[in-house]
Amino acid sequence: MTEILSPDASGIARAADLLRAGDLVAFPTETVYGLGGDARSDIAVARIFAAKGRPRFNPLIVHVPDAAAAAGIAVLDDRARRLAAAFWPGPLTLVLPSVPAAGLSPLVTADLPSVAVRVPAHPVARALLAAFGGPVAAPSANPSGRISPTRAAHVLDGLAGRIAAVVDGGPCGIGLESTILSLVGPARLLRPGGLPQEALEACLREPLADAAADAPDRPTAPGQLASHYAPGAPVRLMAGAAEPGEVWIGFGPGTGDAGLNLSPGGDLVEAAANLFHMLHEADRRAAAGGGRIAVAPVPARGLGRAINDRLRRAAAPR
Ligand code: AMP
Ligand code: MG
Repeated sequence: MTEILSPDASGIARAADLLRAGDLVAFPTETVYGLGGDARSDIAVARIFAAKGRPRFNPLIVHVPDAAAAAGIAVLDDRARRLAAAFWPGPLTLVLPSVPAAGLSPLVTADLPSVAVRVPAHPVARALLAAFGGPVAAPSANPSGRISPTRAAHVLDGLAGRIAAVVDGGPCGIGLESTILSLVGPARLLRPGGLPQEALEACLREPLADAAADAPDRPTAPGQLASHYAPGAPVRLMAGAAEPGEVWIGFGPGTGDAGLNLSPGGDLVEAAANLFHMLHEADRRAAAGGGRIAVAPVPARGLGRAINDRLRRAAAPR
């Protein structure tokens, strides 16, 4: 059952409690309805990917109440500060270098060294961020591949029964996604959206670089991530058991108790939540032992598809 919450104090308090419990809450922003989860919780973020049925772990936008909170998770240079002063709160997402050890789940950033940050203007979104008191990861609140929702009813059409609650704040004003600008290196428009490019250029006092002309090692879209942040050690997939010298990453019961296990109980949400942490840990152990990483098969259903996509990238020749 998905609760339908009113956008008043009691509805907001309930929504914040659900977020604190690691549950998912859809809420209105001035662009579209977002599917919110605690950006610091691996399980909450894994649940976002599961609820949307996303086929891969592309990075999510993190919502914060103001530029000061943004500075807690991202490095704002002069350009970022100028844009933030001009356009936050509002439909502008900035991709910025992340602050290491800010406590974000690596699933939020797809383990990249950058983070996408936005300060929404919608009063209900702002009330929820204030009540929750932490960063909220929120892609659009629709199943993957479907149209972004601009009303609570659209959210329920796609996600009823798959998320804890939706705060019904009426129709969204803009109905377009936020404009995404990367400030990792030269300013680049990653996605046109609710804030026009001309407004950004006027504020930056320079034309924006063409994102299509990007170097392939500068991921702009999820599909371009290739073997980015692959472990240093070679990775062997679909392994039945670890061979001598291999660090084992298991999945499900009875796949070896030495080494790591994405989910002994075979839970794909738990496995997704553990994935990046265990790849890092396995890489650390493999580097110490001079070995290789072997990963058990993960079923290709639900979040298993995104897990396998990430594992294939980790194992890709490089
Ligand atoms: P959505 O999840 O639909 O709101 O879309 C989020 C968009 O932001 C995607 O196009 C991502 O590729 C982009 N994005 C989010 N975080 C990053 C990041 N750290 N680096 C580059 N692009 C990002
Ligand atoms: Mg979307």
